[in-house]
Amino acid sequence: MTRRHWLKGVILVGWATTLAQQRPERLVLIVSIDGGKPSVMRRLLAEGKMPNLQRLMTGGSYTLTAKTVVPSHTAPGHISMLTGIDYPARFPNDEAIVKRNEPFDEQRHHPVAVTTVFEIAKRAGLRTALIAGAGKRVKYVEKPQTLDVAAYLPSDDERLRLALELLRDEQKRLHLLFLHLTEADRAGHSHGWGNDAEGIPPSSEYLQALQNIDRRIGQLVTTLKQLKLWGQTLLIVTADHGGIDKTHGGATLEEVTIPWIAAGGLARKSSELRVEGTVRIFDTAPTALAALGLPIPPDWDGKPIQQAFKSDW
Ligand SMILES: [Zn+2]
Repeated sequence: MTRRHWLKGVILVGWATTLAQQRPERLVLIVSIDGGKPSVMRRLLAEGKMPNLQRLMTGGSYTLTAKTVVPSHTAPGHISMLTGIDYPARFPNDEAIVKRNEPFDEQRHHPVAVTTVFEIAKRAGLRTALIAGAGKRVKYVEKPQTLDVAAYLPSDDERLRLALELLRDEQKRLHLLFLHLTEADRAGHSHGWGNDAEGIPPSSEYLQALQNIDRRIGQLVTTLKQLKLWGQTLLIVTADHGGIDKTHGGATLEEVTIPWIAAGGLARKSSELRVEGTVRIFDTAPTALAALGLPIPPDWDGKPIQQAFKSDW
């Protein structure tokens, strides 16, 4: 190679790098409030006790009548959320996930065979992370070589701390992050979600847990704004299921209704979504891929919620 050719190469590479730096990279964050029951959230929102969620809803697009899958359990819910398919409908005989909602056990279980949202992002060269509960009911989506970071931690605060740490790392800037918040589910199982049909109010512990989660979501948003990432972010806040009395898993509205909120610079400020049909939990993964400009597998059941996107990107 002559010196002139070599120089030309250097200039071309430099030019391409500058272009890449000029285009802000998109970030998709999926936050799952485990056991987040919209009828209770509505009450807290009306009382001004979930101010951060309220701001996301006002500045973005949302529905509080989205639906999860049946059985409305943690493993099938999250797997449907992160694979774009109605997992229990496709695999009704899956013992570990659908029938028993088991924690992932390295000795006995395998990651799902279906395509995950992380898999497609990773294949496109993006950086991906999953931070979930130590109960490991989400670990089924951890397929080899699809996640730069996969962590299973016992508390919301530890999980939030790691998420913030990863977001602050400029050298390894993430494109897709899933964050699992579990305090509400724990409070629901121990003290009760309430029972709307029978007029039983939610426990004070459950109400407090949702308010604590609202504060954590606020911290997440503040950090994204401080890092000047908010403008290029799609933040989806949703849940894997609701709850009734001290349980979930069934098909009642109190168990299957979930929130679905799209916020951040990539979301449209259209307030309540009027989507034909309902937003389903498995629309989350296709919406995440659409936000990242990636193709959606044709065999997925979910569809991107286009109304949640700003029209100019
Ligand atoms: Zn759950």
